[in-house]
Amino acid sequence: MQLEDLYRQVIMDHYKNPRHKGLVDKEGYQKVHLHNPSCGDDLSVQVKIENGTITDIRQDGTGCSICCSSASVMSSLLIGKTVSKANQIIEDFYQMIQGIEITLEQEEDLDEALAYKGVSQFPARIKCATLAWKACEQALKEGHNE
Ligand code: ZN
Repeated sequence: MQLEDLYRQVIMDHYKNPRHKGLVDKEGYQKVHLHNPSCGDDLSVQVKIENGTITDIRQDGTGCSICCSSASVMSSLLIGKTVSKANQIIEDFYQMIQGIEITLEQEEDLDEALAYKGVSQFPARIKCATLAWKACEQALKEGHNE
């Protein structure tokens, strides 16, 4: 199987079977809502931080397959990570999506999120792919200040 087909499969799988979808009405979650007017993506992300570690992420919204699948991939990847590790992975993701070369170690950290590597060739879709990550980054920042 070609690498590109594998990546496409990851994206379609997360689009059709989104992980951690649906917001919760519970205490202790930082909620960030972001909108991407250029595509119409509309996304909310909830992050729960306990003792410096992300113990839960919830995501919900409407948008294109790139945006919605990316929210699912992001949630799956960052739950269980420390806040500092998650911030580093988010930065790695931005770097990759801008087409900047990343190291093997960064690739290992990004795991399924590597599926979005090809998005760097489609600048109009970069905002779709990064929306969930930006929401999570903002939630981490707000959670940290409390
Ligand atoms: Zn989009």
